[in-house]
Amino acid sequence: MKIKSITTLPFKASLKTPFITSLRRVDSLEDIIVCIECDNGLKGYGECAPTVAITGESEASIFSSIGVISNALIGKDLDKNFSGIIQIVHDSIQGNTSAKSAIEIALYDLISKQNKMPLFVYLGGFKKEFETDVTISLKDSSAMLQDALKAHKEGFHTLKIKLGSSPKEDIQRVITIANALPHLKLRLDANQAWSTQESINIMQELEMQKLNIELLEQPIKANDIKGLKKIKDAIQTPLLADEAVFDIRQAQTILQSNSADLINIKLAKSGGISKALEIASECRKYGVKCMIGCMLEGPIAITAALHVASAAADVIQYIDLDAMHLIESNSLKSDIVLDGAKITLGTSFGLGVEP
Ligand SMILES: [Mg+2]
Repeated sequence: MKIKSITTLPFKASLKTPFITSLRRVDSLEDIIVCIECDNGLKGYGECAPTVAITGESEASIFSSIGVISNALIGKDLDKNFSGIIQIVHDSIQGNTSAKSAIEIALYDLISKQNKMPLFVYLGGFKKEFETDVTISLKDSSAMLQDALKAHKEGFHTLKIKLGSSPKEDIQRVITIANALPHLKLRLDANQAWSTQESINIMQELEMQKLNIELLEQPIKANDIKGLKKIKDAIQTPLLADEAVFDIRQAQTILQSNSADLINIKLAKSGGISKALEIASECRKYGVKCMIGCMLEGPIAITAALHVASAAADVIQYIDLDAMHLIESNSLKSDIVLDGAKITLGTSFGLGVEP
């Protein structure tokens, strides 16, 4: 099964409400779908989102790096040495993790279709049902409360609360939502907006209130590992590293220095499925659990992340894959079932989603 062509097409979908964090505001989802076609007619699909604020990749840079990777892949035989072909993706260009992820997803879609199994089965997983949290975008506390009440009505049991304006306002946001919905679990994500001392002060104040806070995600700048360690040692709430961990070396730094309780894996940060599974394996050695998260990506990328969550279900115990729930509708063919917070993978071969 030799690679014959690699093409890209834009994927756009409107969001039910704007997605707002301390780093950015997005009003509609605009992604890139990759199609890899082989000489036997089989097609595999991948997808990624330009997320300049996090991976540094724009739409233009993604198109250009997919072109570079494609030149290295055309004519390669997937049946002969699949892991060698995955290695070519990573050797052909530095960085550009979202573009690599889109290509990897398409390659894994192809190889599992060729082996006539769903991708999660090909990867050694068996779990099919997942429950995701849902993001409550950063707004004033009364607007966030309205969004939280709506999410609760829609069947979500865990909320990802975006924070990061001022400490006083952030504390108010959390208390308002927690008091109105005390039975829901709250995941707090400040997206690098706080200082180390602010993080400690805010969390110590919230901890005194005995709220249903499950974890605190990446409160400080991505490269401040010492700060993370200081926060972890000062608070009781589990601390989750997100932007601090793109690759396995960064994961090892966090694990070896015991600077976070949990690690957030995203295909767009790791460079795809193979690297995400490597990070999960490394965390398994240290007994550290992971979240799997996403960028503002469409159904192909989200489904790929669910297959990874199935393959490493013992380690990946926190699911933050709500992007499919945030879009109005899409025209993709899919056997994935969404029911409130529940997402169930289908049994069709490959990813189970395609244009
Ligand atoms: Mg995050």
